Amino acid sequence: MARHTTFRFCLDPTVEQTVALARHVGAARFAYNQCLRLHLDARERHRTLIRRGAGAGAVDQARDGVPWSRFSLINAYNQWKRSEAAGRRFLVTGDGVAEVEVTGLAWRGEVSSQVFEEAAVDLGRGLAAWTAPRSGKRKGRRVGHPRFKKKTHTSGSFRMRNKSKGDRSSIRVGTEDRSRSVVLPRLGSIRVQEDTRRLRRMIAMGRARILQATITRGVRRWWVSITVEAADLHPTARHSARPADDSTGWVGVDRGLHALVVAGKRDGTETLRVQAPKTLATGLRRQRRLVRAVSRKKRASANQRKAGTRLAKHHVRVRNTRQHFLHQVSNQLVKTHDRLVLEDLNITGIMSNRRLARAVGDAAWGELARQITYKQHWHGGQVVVADRWFASSKTCSSCGQIKPNLTLKDRTYACGHCGLVRDRDLNAATNLAAWAEDHTHGEEAQVGDRQAAGPVINACRRDGSGPHTRVGETSPDDAGTPVQTAPAA
Ligand SMILES: [Zn+2]
Repeated sequence: MARHTTFRFCLDPTVEQTVALARHVGAARFAYNQCLRLHLDARERHRTLIRRGAGAGAVDQARDGVPWSRFSLINAYNQWKRSEAAGRRFLVTGDGVAEVEVTGLAWRGEVSSQVFEEAAVDLGRGLAAWTAPRSGKRKGRRVGHPRFKKKTHTSGSFRMRNKSKGDRSSIRVGTEDRSRSVVLPRLGSIRVQEDTRRLRRMIAMGRARILQATITRGVRRWWVSITVEAADLHPTARHSARPADDSTGWVGVDRGLHALVVAGKRDGTETLRVQAPKTLATGLRRQRRLVRAVSRKKRASANQRKAGTRLAKHHVRVRNTRQHFLHQVSNQLVKTHDRLVLEDLNITGIMSNRRLARAVGDAAWGELARQITYKQHWHGGQVVVADRWFASSKTCSSCGQIKPNLTLKDRTYACGHCGLVRDRDLNAATNLAAWAEDHTHGEEAQVGDRQAAGPVINACRRDGSGPHTRVGETSPDDAGTPVQTAPAA
C-alpha cells in the first residue's frame, strides 16, 4: 500500500458531542499557543544570556533547551502541564497556615492527550518550515513564523492518530447498528451525514488502513477528514508503462486566459478544452456585494456578525464549487493521458496581472497542478514541469520563431515567419508537448516536484514524489555525489 487519500464526511453531532468537539478544538489551540509560548520564552532566555555575556557553557545549555522539534515541544508541554505555572491551589490548614498545592492544568483530563501531541507536531512543522529556507535546507518561498492562534467560532481543528490494539483500531467507521457514523477516541460514536459504505468496504477488504482523523469546525458545520493508506489503483485503471526509449506521447497542458485548460499534442491536435464555470465569475460579483455589506454595517454589531457569516458561507460555497470542478478536470486529464507537461507555476504567477479574476484563476491553476501531479502518480502516468524560462506562449509551434510582442489580447497566434495561424492556448500547449519530447529522452523525467513545494497531503509515496524507477533503473538521486574535476593547470 502506497497511496494516501482522504475521505471527508459532514458530522451530525448531538448537543453534548458538539460541546466536547468544541472543547477539543479549544484544547488544540491552547496547546499550540502554549507550546509556542514555551518555545519563544526559551529562545528569549538564550538570547538574554548571550546579551549578558554569560559563559559559553550556560549559553550552550540554554540553546539546547529551546524546544524546536515535535518531541522536545511535547516534552516541554507535558512538563509544563503538571507544573505550578499551569495550575495551583491554596490550601489553608486548621491552624491557619496556607499551603500551595500544585495541581497542574486542571482540565487536562477532559480531552484526549493526542490533541496536545498533534498540536505540538503542527508547531514543530511550522517552525521547521520557517527555518528550512533560511538555512538553505529547502528551496522555495519563505514561510512566516508561526503565530498564536485566535479563538473563533467558525474555524479551528484538531487531529487524532489511529492506534490499533489487536484487530480493533481507535478510529472506526460505522458501528454494528449505525453505518453512518465515525467512532473517535474519547468522543465515541458520532453520526455522519454521508454514506460511508465505500470506505468501510475498503477497510474490510484490507484495501485501506486508517491513519488519522482531522476534525474541522466550519461555518455552522463540523467535518471529519479520515486519511487512509490505500492500495494501489486497479491495474485496469493504471496506464501501461512505456518502453524506456520512448519519448513520445506527451501532451501539453496550457492554463489559458479564456479556457481554464487547453491540452494539445505536438502535432497540434487539441485533446481537451475546458472552460471555467460561469458560477465562479458570478460568485465574484456576489462576493463584492457581500464584502460591501459587511463594511457598511456598524462595527462589532450583531448585524455585522450576521453579514460576516453570510460572507464566510459564500466563500465556502465558491471554494467547494471550484474544488469539485477542478477534481473533474484533473480526473479527466489523468484518465485519458499518460504523459502530461505543465507550465511552471512561478512563471505564470509572475506574468499574471493583479486583477481579482486572474488571481482566482492562478489559485485554481496551482491547485489543479497539485491534483494532476498526485493523481497521475496514482494512475502510473508521468508529469513534467517545463523549464520556467520556456516561452510557451510566444514561441511558434511550427517553426520555433519567438514573437516578443505577443499581447494578452491576441487570441490567435499568427506567425509572421512561416504563416502558421493557431489558437493561442493550443499553440502554447503544443509547444509544451514538444518541449517534453525534446527534453525527457525516454528516461524518467523530473516529476513536477516544484509545483508541490508545500506539504503534499495526497502524496503517492511516503518517500517523496520523485521519479519512479523500475527494477534495474537508477534515479537521479542514486547518481552519487558529483565529482569535482580539478581545473586544467
Ligand atoms: Zn512559425
